[in-house]
Amino acid sequence: METEKAIQLSPLVRRITAGNASVFTGPGTNTYLVGSKHVTVVDPGPALDTHIEAIVEASDSIKQIVVTHTHPDHSPGVKLLQDAINVPAYGLITDSTKDQDRTFFPTKLLSDGDTLVEIDYSLEVIHTPGHASNHLCYLLKEEGLIFTGDHIMNGSTVVISPPDGNMKHYLESLQKLKNYDLKTIAPGHGELMQEPQRVAEWIVKHRLEREKKVSDALKEDGEGTPDTLVNKVYDDVDSSLFPIAKWSLEAHLLKLTDDGLVVKEKDKFLWNEN
Ligand SMILES: [Zn+2]
Repeated sequence: METEKAIQLSPLVRRITAGNASVFTGPGTNTYLVGSKHVTVVDPGPALDTHIEAIVEASDSIKQIVVTHTHPDHSPGVKLLQDAINVPAYGLITDSTKDQDRTFFPTKLLSDGDTLVEIDYSLEVIHTPGHASNHLCYLLKEEGLIFTGDHIMNGSTVVISPPDGNMKHYLESLQKLKNYDLKTIAPGHGELMQEPQRVAEWIVKHRLEREKKVSDALKEDGEGTPDTLVNKVYDDVDSSLFPIAKWSLEAHLLKLTDDGLVVKEKDKFLWNEN
């Protein structure tokens, strides 16, 4: 994947990938430009001068910015971009302080079901909490193309880090996509993905399989914490990734607690026989 150059993906969509590749961001954060006359920028990405320059260079008719969520690889670029071109930015904020970009102040807060209507396209706002409580997807209706931010990524599993991340909400937000007519996923990281409904279904299945491993391990041990359970539950994952896996493991334990199958006592989780 090329970085810092706009690539035409469809009649209405171009992509510029930021140079922030890492274990969390894969090949880097994708910034999308939608439309040609009144352009919407989806996720300006991290605060990287070269990346913001590439966005400004790619279009002289940027009308507005929208943000999927406020993790540090998605929204800090908003402020830099607004310094360069004076345009409004839309999205949601969160009360969470963990790993959040504190520089994002939306011109207007968006709600589920809002539609941004432009001359040659329209973007529908879909609230998809789970990876982050303020996560939004944007559906480009003319192409059935959905900008999924970190709700669905290509090439890696989305990290769910409580308390702002919530596994129960994440699964519900994946199911929610069934209500829309989707043809293509444009993820926050990685290449375009086809067959969105099958992708979403596969992720739900994969997560429920992981949840089964969590409940089996907890049943066997009687009680546990993400630290004591990670070896068993993520026996298929390289141990260098355990620190990250433990966040999602905690998210599974909290979901099982919500479901009444597990009881939480201080930092410990106990299998609830009844
Ligand atoms: Zn991201």
